[in-house]
Amino acid sequence: AKAKGRNTFHFYSQELNAAANERLHIENELRQAIKSQQFSLQYQPQIDSRSGKIVGYEALIRWNHPTEGGIPPTKFIPIAEATGLIVEIGTWVLKEACRFSSVLKSKGYTADISINLSARQFKDANLIETISHTLDEVGLPPSMLHLELTESMLMGDVEAAIEQLKEMKKLGVSLSIDDFGTGYSSLSYLKRFPVDVLKVDRSFVKDIPEDSNDMEITAAIIAMAQKLSMKVVAEGVETAEQVAFLQRNNCHIVQGYYYSAPLTEQQVFAQEPSIMRV
Ligand code: C2E
Ligand code: CA
Ligand code: CA
Ligand code: CA
Repeated sequence: AKAKGRNTFHFYSQELNAAANERLHIENELRQAIKSQQFSLQYQPQIDSRSGKIVGYEALIRWNHPTEGGIPPTKFIPIAEATGLIVEIGTWVLKEACRFSSVLKSKGYTADISINLSARQFKDANLIETISHTLDEVGLPPSMLHLELTESMLMGDVEAAIEQLKEMKKLGVSLSIDDFGTGYSSLSYLKRFPVDVLKVDRSFVKDIPEDSNDMEITAAIIAMAQKLSMKVVAEGVETAEQVAFLQRNNCHIVQGYYYSAPLTEQQVFAQEPSIMRV
């Protein structure tokens, strides 16, 4: 048993080492990526399922590494967050997405832009100034910018979070809770958060219509959001059945592969709105 224990430990620490090495490697590569502009954004349409019109786009970061190719955000965002590099990367995302949005506006589109904020950015003392400076610089109406936050970012120090949300609202931007239903936010706090939009997490949507519990939960989230005068966006919508269910339950804004994968800026402008599935 002793020998086995030792072997197990040895194996475990080797695995830990490999993971730590990979983190260190990614951290170094991230610093380089910032310097040599290896990031880009893609934009996933958000659709009003009744009209079939695009009402917004969510900006999603992409890292195209010169030798390793595409590295998914789920792999590098947590490392960027842990090292603090996310603040610089997040500022770039904000500027780039606002620039894209102002081009959209100049071409006569009426779509809003959503960006994902990380916990570190949300706590950053300069966040308010960075947002207001960027909006001024690009000349974008604040109401067109939606900032997505997660429940876990708001829990911890709830009072401080509410203050920060209020400061953000003063800028005139919209606030969304992303991945709603997967975090720990208590419903009693929800009504104190000055948020405009709930995004129903894909985990509730993906097994509709097979899973009746998920259907009940999704319908309940939509009904609750409406009682709190919030809009609802369903994420990860992949099938016509899911669209029909969401429409029946009064969730009119949908986002997912059924309508479109995230697109490059060129693809957005090449796409005729009429080719969107309705
Ligand atoms: P998220 O904010 O929940 O974004 C939705 C993710 O689901 C995106 O993955 C999107 O490509 C994917 N998706 C969209 N529609 C469907 C669908 O119908 N089916 C399935 N299976 N997936 C769908 P992506 O782009 O890999 O991003 C993953 C996560 O990385 C995001 O989750 C977000 O938490 C984070 N992230 C992405 N871009 C940024 C960013 O600029 N800043 C920060 N802080 N985080 C980001
Ligand atoms: Ca999001
Ligand atoms: Ca989400
Ligand atoms: Ca997610």
